[in-house]
Amino acid sequence: MRLLLINPKVPESFWSFRWAVREVLHGRSALNPPLGLATVAALSPRDWDVTIVDENVEPLPLAPAADVIGICGMGVQAERQKQLLRYYRKGGYFTVAGGSYASLCPEEYRGIADAVVAGEAEYAWPRFCADVARGAPESLYRETGDVDLADSPVPRFDLLRLDRYATATVQLSRGCPYRCDFCDIIVMFGRRPRYKSVAQVERELDALRELGVRKVFFVDDNFIGNKAKAKEVLRFLAAYQDRHGRRMRFGTEASLNLADDDELMALFRQAGFEWAFVGLETPDTQVLRDANKTQNCKGDMLAAVRRLYANGIDILAGFIVGFDRDTTASFDVQRRFIADSGIVVAMVGLLTALPKTPLFERVRAEGRLVEDQPHGDNTKLRTNIVPRLMTTHELIEGYKRLYTGLLTDRAIAERVRNKLRHFGEHAQLQRESLREGLGLVWRLLQRGVARGGFTRAWHFARSLPWTRPRLLRQAVNDWVAGLAMRDYVDRHFAAAPTGVTVAAQVARLRLALLRGRAGTRVRLALGRAAGGDDRVSVRIVGPLDGALARRLAHQLQRLLARTPTQLVVAIEAWWQLESRGVQRLLRSLERHGDRVTVAVGEGVRDLLRMEAHDARAPSPV
Ligand code: SF4
Repeated sequence: MRLLLINPKVPESFWSFRWAVREVLHGRSALNPPLGLATVAALSPRDWDVTIVDENVEPLPLAPAADVIGICGMGVQAERQKQLLRYYRKGGYFTVAGGSYASLCPEEYRGIADAVVAGEAEYAWPRFCADVARGAPESLYRETGDVDLADSPVPRFDLLRLDRYATATVQLSRGCPYRCDFCDIIVMFGRRPRYKSVAQVERELDALRELGVRKVFFVDDNFIGNKAKAKEVLRFLAAYQDRHGRRMRFGTEASLNLADDDELMALFRQAGFEWAFVGLETPDTQVLRDANKTQNCKGDMLAAVRRLYANGIDILAGFIVGFDRDTTASFDVQRRFIADSGIVVAMVGLLTALPKTPLFERVRAEGRLVEDQPHGDNTKLRTNIVPRLMTTHELIEGYKRLYTGLLTDRAIAERVRNKLRHFGEHAQLQRESLREGLGLVWRLLQRGVARGGFTRAWHFARSLPWTRPRLLRQAVNDWVAGLAMRDYVDRHFAAAPTGVTVAAQVARLRLALLRGRAGTRVRLALGRAAGGDDRVSVRIVGPLDGALARRLAHQLQRLLARTPTQLVVAIEAWWQLESRGVQRLLRSLERHGDRVTVAVGEGVRDLLRMEAHDARAPSPV
C-alpha cells in the first residue's frame, strides 16, 4: 500500500516569521515540521510505503503514485486542506482527513474526504489502516477515550526534510489542567495532562540527534500541566545534555505558574530551555477571571515575567483584545504592559470563538456570533464575535494601532532594553559556531537594520547590551523577530487612506490597461473573498510583454498597498509561467504573501492557492 501524507500550506501569519525565515535564517523555508504526520507514518503498517510532503517547504505532486492520501490541518489550514482533499478525491484517490481541525469538526468533511480520522491517532489510525488493507474502510474513525502516550511511537523523523525547518519538534505531553473558556485544546485533549516516559523522550531525542538536529521545540499544550512529571523529565534532560555535550537547545509552551516555582525554573535552565511561550492574554485581572484564566491572576504578572527572565528564560507571549469588558482604552493598557514587560514576540490576537468551546456556545447563545466569518487565524483583521463595548470597526482599528505602535524601531528598542535589564544568564549550552553567529548578525544588519536608515540604526545600537556582551545574542534574536513582525504588519495591515476605495483603484487600473489595447490581454473583475474582503481577479489571456508587465505590476502594487484587497492572478496555461513578463509580475507581487493567489490553467484553477513566490517554479502546485 502506498500512503502519501500531506501537510497543506499554512497561510501567512505572524507565526510564519517570513522575513526572518527568508532573509536571516539561511536556507530554511518554514519554522516547524509536521510532527503529527511523522507520528501517523510511524503508526502505519511496516510494509506500507509512506511518503510525507509538506507544501510549506516543497511542491505537491499533482498525480502522485499513491493508493491513499492523508491530509492533515489545523484551523488555519482548513480551507487549503479541503481544497486538496477535493482535488485528489476527484482524481480518483482514496482520501482521508485528519489533524486538529478535522478532529474538532469532522462533520465539515462529509462529502469532501472518503474518511476522517478524528482525535488522537494512536489507536484510531491503525484501525483505519487495517480496514483499508481489507478493503472496507469506514467513513469516520473517532477517538473518544484517552490515549495512553506510552503507546505513542517514535515519529518517523527520517521522512521529514528537517534541514528545511528552523526547529525540529517533539511532544512530551497532551492536555492542560486549566479551563480558559476560549481554548479548544482542552476540548480536544482534555484536562488531565498525560506524559510520555523519559525512555520515550530519550528515543526521540536520539533519533533527532542522529539526524543532526540541535534545536527542538516541545510542542506541548502545557509542558508543566503536571509539575511533578515535568520536573522528572527536566532532570532527565539535564543529564541527557551533559552526556551529549549540551548541544541541544529547547523551547516549549507553559502556563505562567512556571514563574511561581524556583526549582522548576532552575530545572528549565539546566535542561537547556531557552524560551517558553506563555498565554498572558491581558493584564486586566477582571477580564482574566471572566475568561476563566484565573491561573494568571495569582500575582503580579509583570513580576512573574521578570522572574523568568532572571532565570535566563525568554518569554514569547500570547495576548488577546476584544474581550467583553475591553473598551477602546484597553489597547493602550495592553501596549503599556507589553512595552514594560519587554516581550518582543508578543502575539496579539482578536478574541475569536473556536467551535465547541464554552466561549463559542456563549456568544452564540447571546446572538453575537458571526456564523460565516472564518475563525482559523485570530491575527487577521476580523473576528467572528460582535464585541460588547465597542464596534467591530473600533476593535480592528485599535488592534492595528496597537501593533503598529509596538513595531516602530523605537518601540522594539524599548522592549529589548526592558527585557535585558532583568535578564539573567542563559542556559549553559554549546552555541553555534562563530561563523554561523556572525553570518546571522551580518544578514540582520544588511537586510534589516540598514534598510531602516539612520533612525533604525540608532535605535538598534542603543538597545544593545554593551556592558553585558553575553546578552548580545538575545538582543539580536529579538531584533530579528521584531523586524519580521514589522514586515508582516507593513504588508498585511494596509489601510485605505480616506477616499481611496478598491473600486477607485480598479478604475485606475482599467484606465492604465486601455493604453496599447492591453485590455485584450488582461481582464479584470472585482468580487468578494470568503472572509468578506474585496477580491480583484486579474486574468492573463494574452502575451504579457515587459512594458505591460511593468505597468500592471505598478498598478497592482498600488492597489495592494492602499487597500486590504485579496488579489487573484489567473494564468491560462502553464507555459505562460515561463514568460518573462509573467515572471516579472509575480516577482513584484511576492512581498504581499498570501494576499496574492496564483491560479494556473482550467483544470487546477480552484486548487492552486499559493504565494506568488512559489509560482516561479512551475512544479506541480
Ligand atoms: S492554559 Fe493554555 S492550554 Fe491551558 S486551558 Fe488555558 S489556553 Fe488552554
